Amino acid sequence: MKEQIHLALGDLTKLDVDAVVNAANKSLLGGGGVDGAIHRSAGPGLLEECRTLGGCETGDAKITKGYQLPARHVIHTVGPIYRGGNSGEAIKLASCYRRCFEVAAGNRVGSIAFPSISTGAYGYPLEEACRIALTVSLEQLVRFPQIHRVIFVTFSGKDLLTYAKQLIEL
Ligand code: ADP
Repeated sequence: MKEQIHLALGDLTKLDVDAVVNAANKSLLGGGGVDGAIHRSAGPGLLEECRTLGGCETGDAKITKGYQLPARHVIHTVGPIYRGGNSGEAIKLASCYRRCFEVAAGNRVGSIAFPSISTGAYGYPLEEACRIALTVSLEQLVRFPQIHRVIFVTFSGKDLLTYAKQLIEL
C-alpha cells in the first residue's frame, strides 16, 4: 500500500486531484492556514455550500464541491486542538483521517490530498500527527482499494522529511 502514498512540498490548493482535505474548524465557515487558502482559491461558492452543512464535529468529515479549485471536491475535517496529549487528541486525529477516507470512498474519490491536520494553529506535534496520518491511511487504503493515490502535502521541507522518515519506519 505504501506505493499509493506520495509526499509533496507546496500548496495543496494547486493540486489536480479528486479531493483535497481541508483542516477546517467546527463552524466550517472558513479560517486561517490551509482553510483560508482553500476558501480563497475556491471562491465564494464554497462558503455558500459550507453554510448549508451545519458545522462539523471534531474527528468527523463532510464533503463539498471544489468550485474554482483544480480539485473536484473538498473534504472538510475538524482536527483536535492539542492540549498536551491526554485529552483524546490521538483518537480524534485518527478519526479525522478515517472519516476522510470513508467520505471519499462514498463519493467516488480515487485521489486525495491531505494537509497535516492539526499541526498548524491547533498545535499538534508534527511527528506524532504524522505517524497517525500514515498509519491510519495505510489501513484505509486496504479497506478502500478504489482510492489509489494519497498525497501528503507539507509547506516546509522539514515537515516533508518527517513524513518521509515515518513512512520508511512503518
Ligand atoms: P490546523 O488548524 O488544523 O492546525 P492549519 O491550517 O493551521 O490547520 O495548519 C495545518 C498544516 O497545513 C500546517 O502544517 C500548515 O503549515 C499547513 N498549510 C497551511 N497552508 C497550506 C497550504 N496551502 N498547502 C499545504 N499545507 C498548508
